[in-house]
Amino acid sequence: MAVEGLGVRYGRDVVVLGCIDLACAPGGFTVLLGPSGAGKSTLLRCLNGLARPSAGRVLGPDAAPIHRRLRAHRRQTGMVFQQHQLIGRLSVLDNVLIGLLGQRSPWTALLPPSRAERERSLDALERVGLIERALTRADALSGGQQQRVGIARALVQRPRLMLADEPVASLDPVTAERVLDLLARICREDGITAIVSLHQVEFARRYAERIVALAAGAVVFDGPPALLAEADIARIYGPAHSPQAAQEEYA
Ligand code: ADP
Repeated sequence: MAVEGLGVRYGRDVVVLGCIDLACAPGGFTVLLGPSGAGKSTLLRCLNGLARPSAGRVLGPDAAPIHRRLRAHRRQTGMVFQQHQLIGRLSVLDNVLIGLLGQRSPWTALLPPSRAERERSLDALERVGLIERALTRADALSGGQQQRVGIARALVQRPRLMLADEPVASLDPVTAERVLDLLARICREDGITAIVSLHQVEFARRYAERIVALAAGAVVFDGPPALLAEADIARIYGPAHSPQAAQEEYA
């Protein structure tokens, strides 16, 4: 997965991403850090072809430009969102089955799920520890459980790439840690390349193999967590920002 000379601008004046070069090794767990508005979501959306670059290109795990095979790229890319984006009135199982819709041809999308699809979805629910809640309405689950369903919905695609945009921003610290443990373990076990945006510096240090920090649309740090110094954090969040203040910005 790589971006080369990636730029995103809106209109003439709003430059959201400058000229970003980034290559993520297969199977790695990369955390995107940066203040609100730095461009993290936009970068993740470009990696899935949801946002259109104004310059440069995005290469998929197979090193081919994603726009040439966008449907295939999305099929092998799992997305996890901050607000999990489940359909509350549907069962947990039905929400996971939605993750398989992209694997179908347009003319079979309306058919009921096959037995194989249901089994695959139940397997995904088992991996996230929610098999016994398969028939529960999604909106009856806690926030942490809902995010685990969000992970199962991405996992059921058997993705090569997992993109997660602030997946624990709405969760309390203990639940957030459980969800990140799960996400990191599944990606490691399945060899999935993960790119995850977080605003908690401490979580980034704990889970990332590599931290890429953005500020005002540019990469201002790129390296292993052990090399992320206080001076880097000041550069990412501004001189007045300690890690604590960075977290409070989102509180
Ligand atoms: P982050 O995820 O780091 O908070 P975003 O990628 O969401 O940052 O946003 C980066 C910047 O791009 C913000 O200043 C935001 O207002 C701007 N932006 C995002 N989408 C649009 C859009 N469709 N039109 C104009 N500006 C946008």
